[in-house]
Amino acid sequence: PAAIEAEGLTKIYGSGNTEVVAMKNASMRVARGEVVALLGPSGSGKSTFLTAVGLINTPTSGRITIGGKLVQDGDAAYTNLRSFRRKHLGFIFQKSNLIPFLSAIENVQIAMQLSGESARASRHRAMELLDYLGVADRAGNFPSMLSGGQQQRVAVARALANRPSVILADEPTAALDGQRGRQVMELFAKVAHEQGAGVIVVTHDHRALDVFDTIYEMEDGLMTRSTSSASVHANQ
Ligand code: ADP
Ligand code: ADP
Repeated sequence: PAAIEAEGLTKIYGSGNTEVVAMKNASMRVARGEVVALLGPSGSGKSTFLTAVGLINTPTSGRITIGGKLVQDGDAAYTNLRSFRRKHLGFIFQKSNLIPFLSAIENVQIAMQLSGESARASRHRAMELLDYLGVADRAGNFPSMLSGGQQQRVAVARALANRPSVILADEPTAALDGQRGRQVMELFAKVAHEQGAGVIVVTHDHRALDVFDTIYEMEDGLMTRSTSSASVHANQ
């Protein structure tokens, strides 16, 4: 089965004359090992789509299937969303959302320990990820002592810690310089290819688009698949 199958997602916020149709019949299929970039102007519905697939925001209609399991059909959920999210989804937000009273490494470890991993094994994996992301020397620091970019890299490590089958990222490189940003995108591709995860990244960073297998664009709530990543790249 596909890693992610979103079929005909529509989201209407509000009602009556405050109604906003944020997403109109948007569909996307992401294979295992596929890395997708989602582009589009501000307000076009990208966050609405990503949070729907991330089971954080209930669509008005449409279906979401993850790893072959139907998890959301319109506003009805077919699973315990909380535990499903923890087990299968890695979400990276624009802001890092780290727990302020835990150190960087504890922030990465906590997801693994909640899933039953031992302290020793989770510490080892957390250190490995922090090292790869170039923040191993900050492992013992609280988030408030880290720069925005460092916090974001810790958040990426946390999202990958449980080896999720789906990784969703909303402008994950906004706080990073070009090279660090590219490294994070490359890490997503590596994880997708090695673990067979499906990855969707909302991004405005056109410099790293060649990392992606497929590019989709949203405009005014409508989703379209670009013919090839090369053509989008050439148009920038
Ligand atoms: P950005 O343009 O920086 O990506 P967004 O437009 O995605 O910011 O909005 C950030 C947050 O505010 C999101 O959680 C989104 O759901 C919420 N939001 C956006 N527009 C509205 C709105 N008109 N009313 C209420 N919440 C909104
Ligand atoms: P993007 O991520 O592409 O910036 P969003 O998905 O955040 O777009 O927003 C799509 C549209 O839905 C925008 O018109 C936004 O104002 C509106 N919107 C987003 N979240 C909310 C919300 N919680 N309440 C009302 N309107 C919202």
